[in-house]
Amino acid sequence: MNGPAKYPPRGLSKGLAGCHVCEKVSPVSLGHCPRCGSHLHLRKPDSLNRTIALVIAAAVMYIPANTLPIMSVRELGVLTESTIMQGLVQFWQARSYPIAIVIFTASLLIPILKIFSLLWLCAAAKGMVPHSSKVLGRVYWVTELLGRWSMVDIFVVAILVTMVQLGNYMRITPGPGALAFAAVVILTMFAAMSFDPKLLWDQLEREQAEAARQPLSEND
Ligand SMILES: [Zn+2]
Repeated sequence: MNGPAKYPPRGLSKGLAGCHVCEKVSPVSLGHCPRCGSHLHLRKPDSLNRTIALVIAAAVMYIPANTLPIMSVRELGVLTESTIMQGLVQFWQARSYPIAIVIFTASLLIPILKIFSLLWLCAAAKGMVPHSSKVLGRVYWVTELLGRWSMVDIFVVAILVTMVQLGNYMRITPGPGALAFAAVVILTMFAAMSFDPKLLWDQLEREQAEAARQPLSEND
């Protein structure tokens, strides 16, 4: 294994906290940031439980988001309802491949990736999955990147609606699937926000400390 910890001392062991608003580092014993007055804490309170609860809620909402009609179209008195998948197939059959790919990526792929990477990060912070600091860093980077693009999903729905808005003969209304879909986007956003990445480094350090304490099997 790795031997003694090779990282410099951290704020946690010195009782120093970075302000979440203005980033000023001050002793956590002050309670409030001396610069901007925000509440100081070493780690986001209850971060893992909140994140897991939000991710599970997002995963549950992902089902109605994909099975309930995302919009209903009333054309000349005929009502047609379609789910995300049906819309995707329609665009594909109409040979609008770029639109189909954008809808697939933004509506099906990105939410699933977000849900799985957040679950994986939570499991890693609890020490339930094998990991290295490199892999952890990458997964967190991907989650951040996805978070930045999370509003793409909403744009896709907006584009979808405007594209089929064909004059007065057609009336398009969002279906219950759209509500569930918005819930998935919002829940995963809050889940990513409530996750404290410092928990990952805490867990890494715990594992390193444990490895250092155990009698080493000297066969590096
Ligand atoms: Zn501050």
